[in-house]
Amino acid sequence: MDQKNTPDRSINPNLNKLQRKVHFDIDSLWAGIQKGDVVQLSKAITLIESTHAKHQELSRQLLERCMPLTGNSIRIGITGTPGVGKSTFIEAYGSQLIEAGEKIAVLTIDPSSQISKGSILGDKTRMEKLAGHPMAFIRPSPAGDSLGGVARKTRETIMLCEAAGYSRILIETVGVGQSEIAVHSMVDVFCLLLLPGGGDELQGIKRGIMEMADIVLVNKADEDRIKMAQATKRDYANALHLLPPKSNGWTVQVMTVSGLQGIGIQAFESQIQAYIEQVKGNDSFHKKRAEQASYWLEESLQQQVLNTFLEHPEVASLYPKLKEQVVRNQISPFTASDELIQRFKKK
Ligand code: GDP
Repeated sequence: MDQKNTPDRSINPNLNKLQRKVHFDIDSLWAGIQKGDVVQLSKAITLIESTHAKHQELSRQLLERCMPLTGNSIRIGITGTPGVGKSTFIEAYGSQLIEAGEKIAVLTIDPSSQISKGSILGDKTRMEKLAGHPMAFIRPSPAGDSLGGVARKTRETIMLCEAAGYSRILIETVGVGQSEIAVHSMVDVFCLLLLPGGGDELQGIKRGIMEMADIVLVNKADEDRIKMAQATKRDYANALHLLPPKSNGWTVQVMTVSGLQGIGIQAFESQIQAYIEQVKGNDSFHKKRAEQASYWLEESLQQQVLNTFLEHPEVASLYPKLKEQVVRNQISPFTASDELIQRFKKK
């Protein structure tokens, strides 16, 4: 596994120092973002990814300025197991969107950086065609110690990209469970890529992920796989009929595509547009965004409350000792947490 993408502080203890040394000027970042300047946009994302307290304050100020310019894109989530063809598909779809006049940003949530301290998605050069295009902006997964932290940074990056004028934001994740839930909580439409043949178990797809999908794409439907892809499409369409209908009234679509040969990409875009039209028409588009915003408020509060709590001096000194006792089965986890809360409340 490639470890160079992983700003693990134990590997690079100077990272905080390095981050502190970078100078961020909010006014030029803001001016740059409004002009769609990618250098300033990248720098702004580096600012929001920084863990340094001063930088976090600056990010808040920058995000506040960006707020009125956010919300105008269509946010599309794309997930699927490694090798299913996500980056190839995104290249094909992204290129088509650019031809249609859209400005696209591709962001990634890579859960492997937390699990293995390496990167599945970052190991190879991906999306070379889009990477060099002036109408595309590609940003790999932010690093972080927890999926919650990474997801929050990605959500903030969406805001920056929208303020910089990107009209479509594609958020890609590799499917291992939790990261799809994070992506689902920040997109308008969620797409699952599958391979021809094999049931979900063979393809490593959890039922919960199937239930989150708005559009299912059987990819690599080309060459000698076309028939098998059509059979897979029928199987999934039948299986999806058994799920309860979506509250937004949308009927999940199953389609065959080939990212490599560019087959079905236009039809996919038509489905995206049909979906957006339908959910905007019955107001579930805005309802979903409002629910997502309140979910992120809660997430953010939970994280900040926990951080404030753990930074409390008495809690910070007692916590490792109590944790040790919990691990040794000397006290229960509940007694330990009660005791920590009592300490916190006292002072
Ligand atoms: P990812 O890991 O999901 O991003 O998958 P990639 O896009 O990197 O593709 C994995 C492999 O599948 C590569 O060798 C691609 O050339 C191949 N591939 C991707 N899309 C297609 C497709 O539509 N048809 C065929 N035949 N091969 C594909």
